[in-house]
Amino acid sequence: MLHEINHMINHTELKLSKRTETINNKKLNMLDYQNHLYETFGKTFEEFENIFEDIDVNNQATKLQAPVFETPKQEIYQHLCAPSADFSQDPLHKQFSWACLRESMISHEPCIVDPLVQRCVDYVSQPGGLLETIRNPKLNYDEQLPAIAKLYEKYYLPLQAEQKKRDTNNESRDGS
Ligand SMILES: [Zn+2]
Repeated sequence: MLHEINHMINHTELKLSKRTETINNKKLNMLDYQNHLYETFGKTFEEFENIFEDIDVNNQATKLQAPVFETPKQEIYQHLCAPSADFSQDPLHKQFSWACLRESMISHEPCIVDPLVQRCVDYVSQPGGLLETIRNPKLNYDEQLPAIAKLYEKYYLPLQAEQKKRDTNNESRDGS
């Protein structure tokens, strides 16, 4: 319940934001910026944003509004949403999103991912890293959305490209 309300609060924060993002020399307000991201990257960005926005809305609920839900939140993630911490069999870019989400919700349980993904997760998790911005429930969503877009462009897309490369290599190896 709080979760869905917080999604709406985030939308309102974008709408009311005075912040702008400059794209191709044009200043966009935050809602236009969000639409620009959807148009540029399509459905995969929407899914990606949803995962990272969930880190924020869950933290708003359990760190600011109702700390009593902190333990149930961890249990829900442990048992229902992401029972296994082993993502090593998934595509690299999915491993990245899932490990960021799961480790943000259940910080005491490191995920099992490809070494390359691990390096990316470690890097964005360090103090001052992009995940800190998204995990901070006190920041408004107009500060968090650009951080989510950076995570997508700097980590998700390159990992997706690397996954394609590995798939192609495996196919040519199988074919020969
Ligand atoms: Zn959600």
